[in-house]
Amino acid sequence: MKSKEITIVGAGLIGSLLSIYLRKQGHKVTIFERRSDLRKEKMSAGKSINLALSDRGWRPLKEVGLEAELLKMVIPMKGRLMHDTKGQLTFQPYGKENQAINSISRGGLNKLLMNKAEELGVEIFFGHKCVEVDFEHNLVEFSAKGKHFQVHSDLIFGTDGAFSAVRAAMQKTDRFTYSQSYIPHGYKELIIPASPSGDFVLEKNALHIWPRGAYMLIALPNLDGSFTVTLFLPFEGDGHSFENLNSDDKIIAFFKSVFPDASELMPTLVNDFKAHPASSLVTIKSYPWIRNNTMILGDAAHAVVPFYGQGMNCGFEDCYELNKLIEKNGDDWQRTFKEFNESRPENTNAIADLAVENFVEMRDDVGDEKFLLRKKIEAHLNSLYPEKWIPQYSMVTFNPDMGYAEAMRTGKYQKQVMDEVMSVPNIAETWKNLDYDMIIGDLEELLVQGN
Ligand SMILES: Cc1cc2nc3c(=O)[nH]c(=O)nc-3n(C[C@H](O)[C@H](O)[C@H](O)COP(=O)(O)OP(=O)(O)OC[C@H]3O[C@@H](n4cnc5c(N)ncnc54)[C@H](O)[C@@H]3O)c2cc1C
Repeated sequence: MKSKEITIVGAGLIGSLLSIYLRKQGHKVTIFERRSDLRKEKMSAGKSINLALSDRGWRPLKEVGLEAELLKMVIPMKGRLMHDTKGQLTFQPYGKENQAINSISRGGLNKLLMNKAEELGVEIFFGHKCVEVDFEHNLVEFSAKGKHFQVHSDLIFGTDGAFSAVRAAMQKTDRFTYSQSYIPHGYKELIIPASPSGDFVLEKNALHIWPRGAYMLIALPNLDGSFTVTLFLPFEGDGHSFENLNSDDKIIAFFKSVFPDASELMPTLVNDFKAHPASSLVTIKSYPWIRNNTMILGDAAHAVVPFYGQGMNCGFEDCYELNKLIEKNGDDWQRTFKEFNESRPENTNAIADLAVENFVEMRDDVGDEKFLLRKKIEAHLNSLYPEKWIPQYSMVTFNPDMGYAEAMRTGKYQKQVMDEVMSVPNIAETWKNLDYDMIIGDLEELLVQGN
């Protein structure tokens, strides 16, 4: 393959991984990043402090040779541990015995990827903000230290996140479709520290959820024994909202009444609450992702809300899929761009919609007995027919060979079948005696009809 000069805009998670793939193919890769180098200064990588890494993200990281390092950085979370208002706990496994999602530090992962990229010969310039792209002449304009200059390259990739400057430049061109929609909720990060001896004060290998209907709290473990806690709450409104939690007393009273067990573990709650911003949550869809020799990937092309824990995983999968096409098409980059642009969006659109739906499940349904029974029956179906009934969460999280769009479609039919099952009288007592062959038959029929 002919070596190309490639510019990547944004050294976040996706841009850094993409640079590794491209460099491994022998291209000259340069990344320009707006922020300063998070490895040299005490700064966060932005957004959430830790993330859930699952199989779709793990696969490409393993492919580029990072599995050994990853294993030292992750804490497996085997299921959801729900906390009710009395502090009672209910555990719901995410999948089978050996399946888990992994809590990982965003900053730690970003550093690992940047180190690997530089080790392979990728050059990263920090403090360089992309301000414009000239698609016709393959030019990217940057501003750095008050000066503006242009960079020419053969190929340009925009991995500059949800508010991408590369995408903004595409939006000014003809027939570019774009949508963004905010949910009414925002999020705020808080902390449950480790015990004085450095131990975890909650179960370590679980994702903790305090589902409360219109809002929720979650907590993911960190390697130092602490948990990063995220409150998802409406920005405004008559009920509980960020707008209404406007005094120390109200913050304390709110946490004590609705998250009593968590609040006891949060000694710096009020200070953290006031010091940390409430940030917004957006879904962004766009199409096409290419203009001449420029392509956008990751959040720049498709930002999703975090309730399926898939935004980063999906962006890493973008890199994996793109790499497969590059390997197949060699020097025919236009073909690679075209095929990626044709095949990938149906999957990213699907996960965007699934993520919004999953918010309702996480904040509301997971605390509901009928929902837990539904999940138990689905797990039973899966144990009887492991190939034919895979719960939607498992298809999305643990089955990277199945695209998000197919997982969504199959999940829709499973829901139809399960709605019928759940309407059987006394289902809580009789579920073990159901005709499971017939249930699978119903699903198969729906899948055939839907094709
Ligand atoms: C609260 C929250 C929790 C989440 N949890 C999960 C999770 O558990 N699992 C999961 O898979 N995903 C999760 N996500 C989604 C995940 O954070 C994103 O999908 C992921 O960060 C996308 O990576 P990216 O590299 O495309 O964009 P970003 O991470 O936004 O990186 C973009 C980079 O580009 C740089 N940049 C921006 N503008 C410019 C410019 N003009 N010029 C140069 N550089 C620029 C930025 O500084 C940044 O370094 C979560 C998101 C949020 C908000």
